[in-house]
Amino acid sequence: TLSDRLTSVLQNLRGKGRLTDADIDATAREIRIALLEADVALPVVRTFIAKIKERAKGAEVSGALNPAQQVIKIVNEELVAILGGETRRLNLAKTPPTVIMLAGLQGAGKTTLAGKLARWLKGQGHAPMLVACDLQRPNAVTQLQVVAERAGVAVYAPEPGNGVGDPVKVARDSLDEARRAQHDVVIVDTAGRLGVDEELMRQASDIRAAVSPEEVLFVVDAMIGQDAVTTAEAFRDGVGFTGVVLTKLDGDARGGAALSVREVTGMPIMFASNGEKLEDFDAFHPDRMASRILGMGDVLTLIEQAEQHFDQAQAEKAAAKIGTGELTLEDFLEQMLAVRKMGPIANLLGMLPGAGQMKDALAQVDEKSIDRLQAIIRGMTPAERNDPKIINASRRLRIAKGSGVQVREVNDLVNRFYDAKKMMQQMAGRFGMPGGRAAGK
Ligand code: GDP
Ligand code: MG
Repeated sequence: TLSDRLTSVLQNLRGKGRLTDADIDATAREIRIALLEADVALPVVRTFIAKIKERAKGAEVSGALNPAQQVIKIVNEELVAILGGETRRLNLAKTPPTVIMLAGLQGAGKTTLAGKLARWLKGQGHAPMLVACDLQRPNAVTQLQVVAERAGVAVYAPEPGNGVGDPVKVARDSLDEARRAQHDVVIVDTAGRLGVDEELMRQASDIRAAVSPEEVLFVVDAMIGQDAVTTAEAFRDGVGFTGVVLTKLDGDARGGAALSVREVTGMPIMFASNGEKLEDFDAFHPDRMASRILGMGDVLTLIEQAEQHFDQAQAEKAAAKIGTGELTLEDFLEQMLAVRKMGPIANLLGMLPGAGQMKDALAQVDEKSIDRLQAIIRGMTPAERNDPKIINASRRLRIAKGSGVQVREVNDLVNRFYDAKKMMQQMAGRFGMPGGRAAGK
């Protein structure tokens, strides 16, 4: 796996320091192989690797993760970002009905998706109607009717026995029917071909022009791998689309198509289909797809755990010291840095007993002031950090000058430190943290 290969590449890099250029190049080669194996298109791999190299250059080797894990973490974060970060919601029309048109090759899963989407929307309180605009295949209309019945939604189709109908007219007429029967969402199923051709594009494009959909979803089979890019480009240029749906993710495709289509068309992936049943369907989750493309969901979980344990171990170490009253400014700084790494300051609250009381004290500490506090503490000598009592007026002046702040801020910090220490000792006493005096003694 990618993890094993990166581990052997980065084996000799331990402890503190930064990744060297040679490390980064070797790493990039491994990531490149992994992405190609996942069917990501070559130009997309190139752009992606360039981004990763850039980020890896600045990365410090952390205490929590080994270098291989750290690179995997960066790669994963970038993948998630490129795959879309947050999932986009469907655009709804200001005046109903909202029209959602499905486009894609034959067999991509459009008709199945029409049912899935309808069921999902119905679950959210909408009243969808399916529209049969695939009049090419003999069974297409019947298939959509079956799907609609399973989903428990209405379907609009031309009368049988009228010969080959006009899909553009069906699409147009369906809107009147939707207004009449008060359907707020109309899902237009269209015909596909086995390959990209002009006739198909023209028909889809005519239907689009006739009903001006809020969303045109390009439906693509994740199993087609590298071909996803050319197909997506053809649909982008021939019909245009606003979002992508990946289907057949229950198969063994690694999902590189997702990354390629997203990168090449710039359109968001909105839904994922993973089975033949109507409920095998979900909003697209970039994080899940990223770990699938990397092929290492387990490793990512381990990385997350390693980081959590590391932060927790640091917090516990400090908590033990707090209990014995030995808290130093050094610990104070370490805590603040650990907190910042974990994200919003409030996260720390959950780890400390008696958190409620701390809330007010910590609420005033924003990110910026942590930077200043950090600068001040860094400007102290080790002796001062260990025993703040020795910080007299002249030392305060020196520290303030050295860290570019006002003497008042140094005073504030020292006072705040004493307050925190006192408060924590009281808490330790009350809750019986290690070394606390009260609790059961
Ligand atoms: P269309 O030609 O684009 O309308 O594609 P269909 O909806 O008719 O689907 C083609 C075939 O793929 C059918 O046999 C579906 O049951 C199957 N199918 C569609 N979506 C999925 C999926 O997510 N997973 C699997 N395993 N099969 C799917
Ligand atoms: Mg179909």
